[in-house]
Amino acid sequence: MSAGGPRADYSQPMDPRYEVLGDAARLAGEFVDTLPSRAVGARADLDELRSRLDRPLSDGGEDPRAVLEQLARDVEPGLVASAGPRYFGFVIGGALPVAVAADWLTSAWDQNTGGYPPAPALSVIEEVAARWVRELLGLPSGCGIGFVTGCQMAHFTCLAAARHAVLRDAGWDVEADGLQGAPPLRVIAGEQAHVTVGVACRMLGLGQERVRTVSADDQGRMLAAELESVLAEEKVPTIVCAQAGEINTGAFDPIAAIVDRCRAHGAWCHIDGAFGLWAAVSPKRRALLDGFERADSWATDGHKWLNVPYDCGIAAVADAGAQREAMTSTSAYIPAHDEEVPWGFDWSPEFSRRARGVPLYAALRALGRGGTAELIDRCCDHAQRIAERLRQADGVEVLNDVALNQVLVRFADSDEVTDAVVERVQREGTCWLSGSNFRGRTVMRISIVGWQTTTDDIERSAEAILRSAENA
Ligand SMILES: *Cc1c(COP(=O)(O)O)cnc(C)c1O
Repeated sequence: MSAGGPRADYSQPMDPRYEVLGDAARLAGEFVDTLPSRAVGARADLDELRSRLDRPLSDGGEDPRAVLEQLARDVEPGLVASAGPRYFGFVIGGALPVAVAADWLTSAWDQNTGGYPPAPALSVIEEVAARWVRELLGLPSGCGIGFVTGCQMAHFTCLAAARHAVLRDAGWDVEADGLQGAPPLRVIAGEQAHVTVGVACRMLGLGQERVRTVSADDQGRMLAAELESVLAEEKVPTIVCAQAGEINTGAFDPIAAIVDRCRAHGAWCHIDGAFGLWAAVSPKRRALLDGFERADSWATDGHKWLNVPYDCGIAAVADAGAQREAMTSTSAYIPAHDEEVPWGFDWSPEFSRRARGVPLYAALRALGRGGTAELIDRCCDHAQRIAERLRQADGVEVLNDVALNQVLVRFADSDEVTDAVVERVQREGTCWLSGSNFRGRTVMRISIVGWQTTTDDIERSAEAILRSAENA
């Protein structure tokens, strides 16, 4: 083997201890190959899964290759084809093969990207991925970007930066002195804000129940006029959380109006764009987000609509200094470093972590600008098609304006019938989707974010849903 390079002689057998990696590639290939044809939901129940997987921990350990083979066999009936073409539950998304493969390499390289010294190359990859994300989404070129586990932690990161900045402006150093004795800080969010915004507030000591809510319209969009009167009530450090892509309807808050009001009142404007922020890459749909680039922070996911495997969240903050102040760690054993050198822990809450920006880098490179926009537009077109197919049937109602990738369907204008149809569809297995409750009514929610879904999958799924509705 040449020093520092790849293996010199591939005709020599690999060290047998690594053969398990080849097994993993084969087993993974076998699984993903079945994604389009397998039943979408899990087949085994909780008891069966426990009896398959729960075994006594041995003293002597087991053969690694046998462990892997059995693992793959044992999980089989409990795997959900959520990465496949007809999974429309929650807002999940699949995983592009190139991103999965890059994820494997990331694990094999096993570099701690919390700091530059243990992961120089991967730190640079993340630096590049961050720049691509800024460029693709049209975020300010100087904004900070942290790679986190998901949008939950992206909110945490962005709102920590927000907390830093609004209290700094009020003469308080929250990193040093905490919240006890700090000036009061107010968080405002729309009534349909995602639960993770409140949870981030809880973790930041801001109190989930203290979030002041502003009413929303029938699509779940925050009412900007009501925000104005809430903002005018008090002059205190304030953070406003707007939303790009409501979890049920996919609707966008009136972002330009919200940003204007935040500016007028000196409030920080954060945007939850877990999936909806990706509409910014589509020339056809970017207008939905009008004004978003003037906000202060943005939380989004790579693992939903961009089809990167878990865990891939992105926290972006216009005031990069505030993000760094809120996140960075210093200690005597950590070399002093300036912002010119990429250190992961300057931008996200973890100290040690995997290079989760690498699969994102691979996905963006493979898709390119055009491919990313095409993925987003294709999913939105599918959503429109399935909405059209379903609403033509008697007793089937589509409750939302299908401007994005989400479709809310109600059957016979009845909670019971709608529940029954959802359950039948889940059992039948052609596709999988979940029920939800929107403004007090039970709905079927169809979320289309997977790279694999074709027009044929949409037709087959629409037929399966309508068949289930006839029999419900
Ligand atoms: C999924 C989602 C979140 C949470 O994202 P995670 O990646 O699951 O942490 C937040 N907001 C919205 C609108 C979402 O759809």
